[in-house]
Amino acid sequence: MNCFTCQNESVSELGVAGIRPGSVTSDSWTCRLAAVIHQCPRCGHLQKHHDKATLEAINEIYRTYAPHHLAQGNEQVVFPEGLSPRPRTWYTLEKCLPSLPANGRLLDVGCGNGAVLKSAGALLKGWELHGYDLNDKHRDEVLRLPGVASFTSGSLKKLPHREYDLVVLWHTLEHIPSPLGPLAELRDLLKPGGFLLVQVPDVERTPFDMAVIDHTSHFSRRTLEILCRQAGFEVAMDGTPWIHNCLTLLLRKSTLPVPSSQTVDAITLAGGRAQFDWYNSTVRLFDESTREGEFAIFGAGMAGIALLTQLTRKPTLILDEDRQRDGSKLEGVTITPPDRATANLKVIMPFAASNAARIAAKVRAAVPVAATWQFIIPAASATNP
Ligand SMILES: [Zn+2]
Ligand SMILES: [Zn+2]
Repeated sequence: MNCFTCQNESVSELGVAGIRPGSVTSDSWTCRLAAVIHQCPRCGHLQKHHDKATLEAINEIYRTYAPHHLAQGNEQVVFPEGLSPRPRTWYTLEKCLPSLPANGRLLDVGCGNGAVLKSAGALLKGWELHGYDLNDKHRDEVLRLPGVASFTSGSLKKLPHREYDLVVLWHTLEHIPSPLGPLAELRDLLKPGGFLLVQVPDVERTPFDMAVIDHTSHFSRRTLEILCRQAGFEVAMDGTPWIHNCLTLLLRKSTLPVPSSQTVDAITLAGGRAQFDWYNSTVRLFDESTREGEFAIFGAGMAGIALLTQLTRKPTLILDEDRQRDGSKLEGVTITPPDRATANLKVIMPFAASNAARIAAKVRAAVPVAATWQFIIPAASATNP
């Protein structure tokens, strides 16, 4: 078992994420499979090396993948300070605009039902857009989007070399076991001077990401850069602050030699272990705090859905500010905007401590009934103050 990022020849097993088997799929369904976490003793990268049965189950997830089914196929909305809410892809592409040429060719690898391509069609007016995915499930839908010139499925080898000015890997890299080879292939598709835009979940700010069964890599800012440098890229723009729980890097082909090995970093090793321990003790805290009384989970994201497989009792509601999810159900529990929830609830906040406290304060200020709620906030940790 080689480490997915630094290629070290062994990884160690940390154990199951959570207090019982159970996880979440990246298309927002609960899953009965246990999320077993491994860590590289050299670079500290957290990763999953699935057995054959789990890999088969994951292939089935991809075959029937329903992107954003809780929100009628619409992607996540972000709520940036001082700006109106907007799709996450839109917000990120807007941030990249100053670095990109006025026109060019964009390839979205793992395009799904076209979240990136939709935003690119509106923001990158002079660009020609191309979609790629494993199968043809969303082919027709993607080809109907404005600006989309082609859709390819199957092997990456079908795509032309040195053709693209921007290749996008949007919440895709974390799904690829052994991502180094595919990343190097994508490098060959770029024109000289072309960019690769990568966004993945940030395990340091969201250790809950470990519960996503089909995420095989759980990147920190450092391990993501180790991988990208090994594949021959360097950072052109660091978008780590853009999205509160994601890492975003705009990369270009590196002119530096590919580093042959990485040295052990004791801080990263301890950090990865701390995220794993934090996740497990947080799930335990939530379970123990909800043994009696009515309670709700805040947020129908990955963390909230994973908790449905971990807690002994079922919540009365799942609260979510994204109105596209209003009325959808998970495990029979209805998703409701906070302002329509009942009084005197315990409210589980599955976020890093400071984010959880910030969101709780925002909800208290905006929603009168929240004054009667008891928010359950996780403990702070070194990587998650
Ligand atoms: Zn490693
Ligand atoms: Zn993902």
